[in-house]
Amino acid sequence: VLDAGFFRRWMTAAAAAVDREADRLTDLDSAIGDADHGANMRRGFAAVAAALEAEPQPTPGAVLVFAGRRLISTVGGASGPLYGTLLRRTGKALGDAAEVTPEALAEALGAGVAAVAQLGGATAGDKTMLDALGPGVDALGRGGGFAGAARAAAEGAAATVPMLARKGRASYLGERSIGHQDPGATSAALLFEALVEAAA
Ligand code: ADP
Ligand code: MG
Ligand code: MG
Repeated sequence: VLDAGFFRRWMTAAAAAVDREADRLTDLDSAIGDADHGANMRRGFAAVAAALEAEPQPTPGAVLVFAGRRLISTVGGASGPLYGTLLRRTGKALGDAAEVTPEALAEALGAGVAAVAQLGGATAGDKTMLDALGPGVDALGRGGGFAGAARAAAEGAAATVPMLARKGRASYLGERSIGHQDPGATSAALLFEALVEAAA
């Protein structure tokens, strides 16, 4: 089972992962966006990790709702409200249980991903973070474990390369968005890698 400590470790591992990969995320965003995705993710998750250090939060749901709020208040770009919504909605779905199963987390993340789709109006194949979040959550729901979910999310991110962007800044490029990996799908895969680290 997964307790509040696990969810705090997840957020800390996510902060470390986006810090480590910030240059890569920014390079990807410079090809089809405005070259700030690495900085946005680094600033947002650093704020989340610092806030959780100061105010640890008692339950899995509370950790994610608190983290989601922090992301929304610290990240100005599209990714702040979208990832903030993912975490807040997932946290809400977990309720106030002290411990949750991986199956319950998979189901809650499904609700979180649906909320991201609703907020951003994107669906699978639009070349967004959803193209990594969806496969990752689906793999987790099928019992693939965190490692299986991380693999599926990374494959989903790689599969955005040939896609034409239909949402977000990259969509302004039209056909010229083809041939580049989506930055948000790449950071979404990092969140699943961080789950593996939190469980180790
Ligand atoms: P901004 O585009 O405002 O500079 P970021 O660079 O931080 O914000 O984030 C860009 C990423 O956000 C994209 O690579 C994409 O994955 C994701 N994104 C943008 N718009 C949407 C949307 N409508 N739905 C889902 N994801 C989106
Ligand atoms: Mg950007
Ligand atoms: Mg921006």
